[in-house]
Amino acid sequence: MLELYGQGVSTGIAIGTIRHYVNVSENVKKYKVEDVRTELERYRQGMKMAKIQLQKLYDEACSQVSKSESVIFQTHIMILEDSKFVENTEEIIKVRKLNAEYAVSYTAKMLAEIFKGLDDEYLKSRYTDILDAGNTLIKILQNKEQKKDAESKQPMIIAAKELMPSETVSLKKNTLIGFVTNIGSPNSHTAILARTMGLPAVTQIDKDLSEFDGCTAIVDGQLGKVYINPDKNTMALYHAKKERYNKQRDNLKRQIGLPSVSKNGQKIILSANIGMLEDIENVEANDADGVGLFRSEYLFLNRNSVPSEEEQFEAYKRVITEFKKSGVVIRTADLSADKGIDYIDMPNEKNPSMGFRGIRVCLANSDMFKTQLRALYRASVYGKLKILLTMINNTEEVNYVKRIIKSVKRELRAEGKQYNDNVQLGIMIETPAAAIISDELCSMVDFVSIGTNDLTQFTLAIDRANQKLEYSYEPYHKAILRLIKLVVKNAHQCGIPVSVCGELASDTKLTPFFLALKTDELSMAPSKILQVRAKVRETNTEMIPKLLKEL
Ligand code: PEP
Ligand code: MG
Repeated sequence: MLELYGQGVSTGIAIGTIRHYVNVSENVKKYKVEDVRTELERYRQGMKMAKIQLQKLYDEACSQVSKSESVIFQTHIMILEDSKFVENTEEIIKVRKLNAEYAVSYTAKMLAEIFKGLDDEYLKSRYTDILDAGNTLIKILQNKEQKKDAESKQPMIIAAKELMPSETVSLKKNTLIGFVTNIGSPNSHTAILARTMGLPAVTQIDKDLSEFDGCTAIVDGQLGKVYINPDKNTMALYHAKKERYNKQRDNLKRQIGLPSVSKNGQKIILSANIGMLEDIENVEANDADGVGLFRSEYLFLNRNSVPSEEEQFEAYKRVITEFKKSGVVIRTADLSADKGIDYIDMPNEKNPSMGFRGIRVCLANSDMFKTQLRALYRASVYGKLKILLTMINNTEEVNYVKRIIKSVKRELRAEGKQYNDNVQLGIMIETPAAAIISDELCSMVDFVSIGTNDLTQFTLAIDRANQKLEYSYEPYHKAILRLIKLVVKNAHQCGIPVSVCGELASDTKLTPFFLALKTDELSMAPSKILQVRAKVRETNTEMIPKLLKEL
């Protein structure tokens, strides 16, 4: 048994088999080739080997699992043999004189995109197979050892050097039970995603994880520990621990249906943060009072082009309809260079979180932004939609967006398309600048939401993803709490509601603080809602005015 120590970023216990994830398609290099014939030959040889490997996997899987589950490998062979796949790849090599790995990666992504847009639900769902088949071939071309891709029903713990949000999203499968990575901070988007999915995760493991592929492991997301090939005693201990953990979770279920009201009768809305439509299930299971933050940028990941208006419309319509009574806050795309999107012109930046992101990208790509706004407004007729703008720093940006919204509405009217004229417009307060001028900003919008993740990193000048500085990423810093207090005061003076949607919203140590401030709403990972509700219900805010005075 081997014990590994890291940083727990999402609580819970996972017991299962490690599957080492190699970041393939994102790492594919693009370069010009001089000798096209040799490159074509290299591609064809790779193709042959890929087919042999997949056939072998099929035969092995047939003897281990059922035939129907093994068929996946045959499907992958068919994809690689498909004339469109072959012709497109060869054309990129021949005409554009580009390397084989890139040609395969490009073709797989392009075809996957076409499948994703199909009406047939079954065919639509096969787009990941195209990417997987492409990855098999790319690994061979890159000379990476092809490990048995466990498409089995085994509970799977994904181990990787680092996971981009786009990869974390694409990994979401029924059998996925936890994450272990070398790189990643508790405030990185991937950690947030793991918490949203309710999966235990440990990062910052200082060991090459590839050697543990196929090993049995225990992931303790609370203690930040990973056990490889655990011995009998440890296994028994963790099965018992897991049972206790599940019991605690079941106890929390008693909070379902109870109002989120403090002992002295103060109400607060507890809503959920989501990134994908699959999260809706979790929101409902945890009895959230609606969706307080839908990070729409996740719709933009793992693809080759901006999602079409229709695609976005369908996604927004689905969430809005699902939470018709409570309402949904959809944030306009917070895209940035570190989120792994290559179809928008976003050059690599040294500091993407302080760079070209959020509203800045939207305003610079007005067609993309308009498409999103059109989809949002069209979907607004299906329930209560609130639109939230991200990374706002000044009043000009808000005015600029308002002008765009006006023109979007004008267009929709001219086309005879319906929309709700009363969609509320809000902004995120994520920078000290926005917090300091929140008196002015609040007078321009219908609601505000405090993004404490970015607000903390910018106030303390500490990159939220920087592992080395984690010790001083101090969200309880007086400066942060004072800024939150200031924003809540300014919002209320303007007569608009204020919510907190950063990770601090789920920190039960701060629940009394948020209640004492009279924050209207806390929005958090669905799995945290019942815990916070329990804390709200045991808090008497009359006992804590001192807390605020001291700030
Ligand atoms: C935040 O900054 O607090 C926030 C909610 O946005 P994100 O974590 O997606 O940057
Ligand atoms: Mg943010």
